[in-house]
Amino acid sequence: MSINKIKGTYDVLPKDIQLWQRLEDVIKNVSKIYNFKEIRTPIFEKSELFHRGVGEGTDIITKETYTFDDRGKRSVTLRPEGTAGVVRSYIENKLYANNQAVTKLYYTGPMFRYERPQKGRYRQFMQFGAEAFGSYSPLLDAEVIAYSTTILRAINLNNVIVKINSLGCNESKKNYTKALVDYFTPVIGDLCHDCNERLKTNPLRILDCKVDKDSPHFMNVPKMYDHLTEESKLHFDKVISYLDEMGINYEIDPMLVRGLDYYTETVFELVSMDDTLGAQNAVGGGGRYNNLVKDLDGPDIGACGFAFGLDRLILALENQELEKEYIHLFMMALGDNTKAKALSIVNRCRLGGLIVELDFLDKGMKGQFKQADKSNARYIAILGDDELQKGTINIKNQTTKEQVTINIDELYEYIVKDLTANSNSSCECSSCSENGGE
Ligand code: AMP
Repeated sequence: MSINKIKGTYDVLPKDIQLWQRLEDVIKNVSKIYNFKEIRTPIFEKSELFHRGVGEGTDIITKETYTFDDRGKRSVTLRPEGTAGVVRSYIENKLYANNQAVTKLYYTGPMFRYERPQKGRYRQFMQFGAEAFGSYSPLLDAEVIAYSTTILRAINLNNVIVKINSLGCNESKKNYTKALVDYFTPVIGDLCHDCNERLKTNPLRILDCKVDKDSPHFMNVPKMYDHLTEESKLHFDKVISYLDEMGINYEIDPMLVRGLDYYTETVFELVSMDDTLGAQNAVGGGGRYNNLVKDLDGPDIGACGFAFGLDRLILALENQELEKEYIHLFMMALGDNTKAKALSIVNRCRLGGLIVELDFLDKGMKGQFKQADKSNARYIAILGDDELQKGTINIKNQTTKEQVTINIDELYEYIVKDLTANSNSSCECSSCSENGGE
């Protein structure tokens, strides 16, 4: 009998590789913009790393790790998530001594969890994650969330909301845990076996229970925010105000706790509203972990990160129609005198990251319009002798068909502003669209 793949794993065949490569390219390009550098760590580590890092009481550690003794009788574990390994490497290689205030790292690679396989849930799955070390500032939380949402915009995955909550500092967590124990103790008999265990080992995790989530006892659970210290409240309020300022959509979810023990302060999850993902609609999540680096014997520093499940992003992408290739601007220069100015504006726009084309065949107006159409230009700029003399230029938005006359030196700023205003659904910067937006 022939040998088949292990349950919960899959092959990526050549016919399917394009989507994966597209996703990986977007990750690379967006990471460059946010100045996160790639790190690659081993697929297996000493088991102790995950026990201390991820937490003894978590489902991942108690039920899901692939742990075995190697031939030297050392216990090793296939990594179930990326953060612990990156933190280990950060400490072991003293990356904190690199003279950079904040160290920003990202990774992609396979993770392993012994879970019940279903659509979007595998035993070997791919994650992309990012970790930023060295700051307690709420700006970093907001930066990390913005980075994660930009990735989704760059692959045109709309209909995603950021669910966000705060667990607060150690003291806030202690206050809240006590409030939860007081609240659940009298009714714990009505809840599932796991919740009974969680009440003793990790009461916060009761909020994450999939079995009891509709129980009436969950209606009036004490609110986490009410138990945060003033400092933690301030931190969370600032994160929220930064998201508001950036126009990032979020929903505060007071029940959000996330499955891993190491989180403090902000936690967030990106949830797709796309039907195709079914029950496994959490495409990613993350948060701040101010104790983990110290707990793994590194310096006492704040850190923040997230991880995406790439398999779920691929499932969502499979249902999208690929967008037709496009350029941002076609520059029409009419008449010999206008060419030098046109070329210099084109160069300025390209330096700013826009994809721009112009006519190299000395065509007239009609021929240039044809070229602009063929290259699927979002905007056409028209520069004739009259405009050149007046220092103006005409710009036509090919989507709305609106045409305006603007100052010639403001063309770049005009396009970027207009693209940003009209790009609720997809990231327009060339770094993303080079590979992702087409
Ligand atoms: P976590 O590391 O548990 O915070 O998960 C981060 C993301 O990884 C989730 O939002 C999922 O998209 C993805 N993920 C987690 N477990 C699996 C799995 N067994 N199969 C596929 N994707 C997963």
